[in-house]
Amino acid sequence: MITLKKSDYEKILSHARTNLPEEACGLIAGTIEENGEIRHIEQVYLLENTDHSNEHFNISPKDQLDAIKNMRSKNLKPLGNWHSHPESPSRPSEEDKRLFFDSTARYLILSLQDNENPVLNAFIVKNHTEVSKDELVII
Ligand SMILES: [Zn+2]
Repeated sequence: MITLKKSDYEKILSHARTNLPEEACGLIAGTIEENGEIRHIEQVYLLENTDHSNEHFNISPKDQLDAIKNMRSKNLKPLGNWHSHPESPSRPSEEDKRLFFDSTARYLILSLQDNENPVLNAFIVKNHTEVSKDELVII
C-alpha cells in the first residue's frame, strides 16, 4: 500500500493539466514503514519533462539531484516517480517498462485520457516486464 495526501494529488493533477498536451512528471519521496509493506508519500516534486513530448518523459540529472538533496534535508526517502499519460490509460507503456529499472520503486501514472475522470495508479515493475499494482490510497 502507498498513501498520497489529497493536497499532493491535487498538485500532481494541476501540474499535469497545465502541461497538456505534453506529459508531466516528477519524483515522489516519503517514508517506508518498518515491515516494508507500506509507503507514505510526504513530498511530491513537480519537474520539467525535458523531452517535451506527449508520449514519453525525461527528468534532467540536475533536477533529480536537487530533489534528492531536498529529500535528504527533510529525512525522506526517494520512493519513485510520477508521470502523466495525456492520451493513454494509467498503465506503463512499453517504453516506461524499458526505463523503469528499480523494482523497489513505485511508479505513479496519472491518465488524463478522460479529462473529466483522471485515473491515478501506482505500479511496481520487475525485470522490465512484470507489472503489478500497489494499492494507492489518497488520504
Ligand atoms: Zn508513460
